[in-house]
Amino acid sequence: MYRTLQIKLDRSNALIQTARIWNAACQDVIDYGFAAHDYNKTRLNRATYKDLREKYPTLPSALLQTARDQASDMLKRLRFKTKPFKKPLGAVRFDIRTMKVFLESGYCKLTTAFGRLRYDFQLPEYYKRYVGWKVTNAQLKITKNACYLNVQVEQPDPEPITGDRRLGVDLGINNIAVCSDNTFWESGHVKAVKGKCQYLRSKLQSKGTRSAKRKLQKLSGRERRFQKDVNHQIANWIVSKPYDIIALEDLTNIRNGNKNKKLGKWSFAELRSFVEYKAMAIGKNVITIDPRYTSQTCSRCGYQHKNNRIGRIFKCKSCGFQIDADLNASRNIATFSRSDRSRLQSTSQ
Ligand SMILES: [Zn+2]
Repeated sequence: MYRTLQIKLDRSNALIQTARIWNAACQDVIDYGFAAHDYNKTRLNRATYKDLREKYPTLPSALLQTARDQASDMLKRLRFKTKPFKKPLGAVRFDIRTMKVFLESGYCKLTTAFGRLRYDFQLPEYYKRYVGWKVTNAQLKITKNACYLNVQVEQPDPEPITGDRRLGVDLGINNIAVCSDNTFWESGHVKAVKGKCQYLRSKLQSKGTRSAKRKLQKLSGRERRFQKDVNHQIANWIVSKPYDIIALEDLTNIRNGNKNKKLGKWSFAELRSFVEYKAMAIGKNVITIDPRYTSQTCSRCGYQHKNNRIGRIFKCKSCGFQIDADLNASRNIATFSRSDRSRLQSTSQ
C-alpha cells in the first residue's frame, strides 16, 4: 500500500539550481535516447554518463542516475512518437540514495549540486499516521512560492477485516455527516467559517483592486485548507468507529438535483476519498449504494413515499415513525448496503 505525502519546504536557491542542472541533464539523455531510438537504462547510461559528468561537474552521480531513469521512463512512455520535453524547473526525482526523510523529526536530507543539505519542515497533523512507513522515493516540485517534496511511503497491506458490522453514513449540508449509530458531525462551526469567508469574499470582490485580488486568492487557499482539514477529521471519526463495513451513497451519477443542492459547495468527493483510503489502510471495506429513496424510505417499516420527509424531519405515512431525516437516511444506507443496491468499492491498489 502506497501513499504520497506532499511536504512543503522553504524555497531554496540550492534546490532551484539543482533542479535546473538536473532537468538539463535529463533533457540531454532524452535527446540522445530519442535520436538513438533507445530507452534502455544500461545503454543510455553507457552512452551518456561520461559526457554528462563533464558537462555538469557539480551534479552528483547519484542524481545523474535518477535523471537518466526519468529520461528512460519518459522515452518509454511516449514510444518515440514525440520527443519528451523536460521543463527547466520540472520535477526532480529522488531515490533512497539521494534523500533521507525523517517524518517524525520533521526534516530531510537531499543530495544537491551543493552537497547533501538539510531542510526542515512542518509535518501536517494528518500525516503523522505515516510516521514509521517506509520512504521509497520522492519528487521535488518547485512553484513560485515554495518547494514541495512529494514523498512516497509504503507499508504492507493490512489483513482484511472479515466482520459484518455495518455503518451507514449520510452526507449532507444540515449535518456534514450523520452515522447510523446515532452520531452527528455538526456543521455549525463549518457553516460559520464558510459564512465568514463568503462575507469577506463579497467585500473584496466589490473592491476589485489588485491588492483585493491578492487577498481573495489567499482567502480561497485558506478556505481550501480548512475544508481539507475538516474532511480529514470527519473521515478519521467515521473510520475509527467499531464497524467493519462503511456504507456511503454513490453520488457520482445523480440526475435529480435534490441531493446536489443539499451538498452545496462542500467537497464531499474529497471526504469520500478520504474515508475510502483511510478505511482501506486498516482493512475495512467501503460499500457504495444507489442513493435513490434513501431519504424517502422509513428505516423502521420500509414504507417508501416522497411525502415521508418534511424538511429535516422524517415522518412515516404508514407507521408514524418520526426521526431526524438524515439519521433515517443513514440507517437506510446501512440496510440497503445488504441488498443489490450496493456495490463493493474496489479495495485493491
Ligand atoms: Zn414506517
